[in-house]
Amino acid sequence: MRAVKNTPAGITVVDAAEPEGDGVLVTPISVGICGSDFHVMALGPTDITVGHEIGALLDGRPVGIQPFAFCGQCRNCVQGTTHLCVQTKQLYGQDVDGGMAELLLVDPRCIVEVPESVDAAVSSLVEPIAVAVHAVNLAALEPGMRVGVIGAGPVGLITGAVARTHGVDVDISARHDRQRTAAERIGLSIGLNGRYDVVFDAAGNNASLAEAIRVARPAVRS
Ligand SMILES: [Zn+2]
Ligand SMILES: [Zn+2]
Repeated sequence: MRAVKNTPAGITVVDAAEPEGDGVLVTPISVGICGSDFHVMALGPTDITVGHEIGALLDGRPVGIQPFAFCGQCRNCVQGTTHLCVQTKQLYGQDVDGGMAELLLVDPRCIVEVPESVDAAVSSLVEPIAVAVHAVNLAALEPGMRVGVIGAGPVGLITGAVARTHGVDVDISARHDRQRTAAERIGLSIGLNGRYDVVFDAAGNNASLAEAIRVARPAVRS
């Protein structure tokens, strides 16, 4: 089968053996390219198939994939924080084969059901949407708050979209025209101005962190 790997000759499609072993075989339909994929690739060539943001078909049904395999028995897993599993520590696309292949073998506990109406072509967004939902939940937004998002890549855009469901207006800084177009389409305002009750840094670099501090309103939150 075809699979995408980071080879000594560069990132390319190679012919790979079909996966076998314990787990469930799914057919990847869409796979996101995440910033962390670039960090992994910078470590050098590997035989592991790329891709941890995976939308797939399982028996013809669309599913998302929770990309971190976990043991289910360590203290963190028992407490429900399976993403902090200290035993297995296997991320699809980094430690074990990921989604950019014609077939993927996954732990059945990593299957995320999505409604039939969701196309597998977009169910790869389950993982970045989960990141945004978690960030917005931590922020405990209240209606009327001013919210700023720095960075309009997928996670920044999705964070803005999720924040809006809490009854807040969201300003977002975007570097590229295509990002501005997407941001406007989901009801975000372009450009940060003034101070914000909550700022999400969705760029994750020194400049964005400094900007986040600069535009955050001084406040004490209990
Ligand atoms: Zn990712
Ligand atoms: Zn565990």
